[in-house]
Amino acid sequence: MKDSVLTPSPVLIIGAGLLGTSIALRLRRAGVEVHLEDASPVAASLARDLGAGTLEPVDEPSIVVVAIPPDVTAPVVRAALDRFPNAVVTDVASVKERVARDVAGHPGADRWVGSHPMAGKERSGAIAADADLFVGRPWVITPSEDTQTDALHAIRTLAVDVGATPVMLDAAEHDHAVALVSHMPQLMSSLVAAALKDAPAEALDLAGQGLRDVTRIAESDPLLWTAIINGNRKQIAGVLRSISARLGTLVSVLDRDDTGLDRISAVIADGNKGVARIPGKHGGARANYAEVIVLIPDEPGMLGRLFAEVGEIGVNIEDLEMEHSAKQQVGRVILSVIPQQAVPLERELAQRGWRVVTSESVPPLVIAIDGPSGSGKSTVAKEVARRLGLAYLDTGAMYRAATWWVREKGIDLADHDAVHAATLELPLSIDLDPEHPRFQVDEVEVSEEIRAPELSKVVSQVAVNLDVRAEMVRLQQAIIAAETGPGGFSDGRGIVVEGRDITTVVAPDAPVRVLLTASEEARLARRALETRGSADASAVAATRDEVVRRDRDDSTVSNFTTAQDGVTTIDSSDMTIDNVVDAVISLIPENYRDR
Ligand code: C5P
Repeated sequence: MKDSVLTPSPVLIIGAGLLGTSIALRLRRAGVEVHLEDASPVAASLARDLGAGTLEPVDEPSIVVVAIPPDVTAPVVRAALDRFPNAVVTDVASVKERVARDVAGHPGADRWVGSHPMAGKERSGAIAADADLFVGRPWVITPSEDTQTDALHAIRTLAVDVGATPVMLDAAEHDHAVALVSHMPQLMSSLVAAALKDAPAEALDLAGQGLRDVTRIAESDPLLWTAIINGNRKQIAGVLRSISARLGTLVSVLDRDDTGLDRISAVIADGNKGVARIPGKHGGARANYAEVIVLIPDEPGMLGRLFAEVGEIGVNIEDLEMEHSAKQQVGRVILSVIPQQAVPLERELAQRGWRVVTSESVPPLVIAIDGPSGSGKSTVAKEVARRLGLAYLDTGAMYRAATWWVREKGIDLADHDAVHAATLELPLSIDLDPEHPRFQVDEVEVSEEIRAPELSKVVSQVAVNLDVRAEMVRLQQAIIAAETGPGGFSDGRGIVVEGRDITTVVAPDAPVRVLLTASEEARLARRALETRGSADASAVAATRDEVVRRDRDDSTVSNFTTAQDGVTTIDSSDMTIDNVVDAVISLIPENYRDR
């Protein structure tokens, strides 16, 4: 950034708020003589103490910058034109047409140039000032037909000297533009935040980054914004009227049952179109960056370390976002990088020990495996999860745990409603680590007990209860959703889920869906070996009820014998476990690999 400037000394700044003090600091840094005035002696002294200039009166400033709220701007501009007959006067008020109307015709009005630097912060006052506030930002200049060329030139130079990019607009065009890009968003953000004023604390505890993004500017100063909005009433009303019409339609659609989905989707789709039109940080079309998400412990110095290592890896961070939720000990750092660098960066950071969440361009992986008992589902699913670093969910064990709990409570398994009621309160906790998947009910470790033959005999009675199934499916989908978001066992990488209805009911959209089958003979032999330690004739006979009868009962409520469209059948009768695992992994679509 250049430090030598063309703006001639002395400059008088009237108004030692955020903008005035920031301009002053930048000019002071370049050696320009800056004088400050503010109606509040405290504000003026504070700006002086920050190094923004002197409070000594000035006789002949070359430029006067009026940096006060828009409702008082015009009279102060007029007074400045009277006080300093040789000075160029500008103001930085955020609405321009009204000031232009109130200054037009005043003696010396041709030395006045309206302008509006498009920079700000949620915090106001000199204390928030920053010499670099305008760097790279547009500085709108709204000359009228009467404006002297020299005056216009002086203000363009001032804008460039503080690091901004001058943009010429008609005052009315400017006001319409800021109504759209600044004033309307301020009001919408305030309206959203106002709706939370009396919200229950438990609801607010659930807030994520979306709510924070939408309400970030709702912390703005009410006094200042009342003046800004008052100064641009007509333009803002026009923008709000069209939003209000859309809102009205939306509300009436929502009041009806199940109709008007096209209207709802139009709101979201039009939003997509609008957001795609907001220029990116370099002013061009928004660059299509890939996001690399890193979870960092909430400890001092971690961000610095991360940035240093990304630099060492040779990747440029194009943009950066941080998310922090109040109850988590980790923060999510979202690094935007050029797409070709995302996967190598993820891999390199992971190797260096950072916890990397797969980039949003690669959706989390869900592998759904169904099959009859003894087909080898559990062994295969666990191994697939272990190799890929995914979570593992055995839904059969959930039905088994529910059965254990219902029996523990002494409830008759045939009592449909009582069994359902008990499962609604099932205090189940599950460890999704494929290395040691564990199930606890009411803090009792049940992982072993739920595999006992007596329990295997009766589990189908609970599993055919359709209300129990609805609850289990809901629970399973919640676990999948949690595992495909941040945190959790896999840090959002994904999950392998096995059962009877995963490919059809629980996760019908999973990118990998497998029906694992095996001949009855093979399945009986495997189960006999597993539960009785032998596959001889008597062990197989004893296992028959557990396998064949149970499958028959189970298939009255879910279809796990024929593959639905898009589900791949793997017959494991003559395959080794490793071969089956490889076969499942080979079904993973290309864009999910290499993570
Ligand atoms: O797979 P596993 O043999 O452990 O499953 C135990 C029982 O849980 C099954 O016999 C079936 O009754 C039930 N189940 C189900 N749906 C699933 C998984 C298991 O009904 N998705």
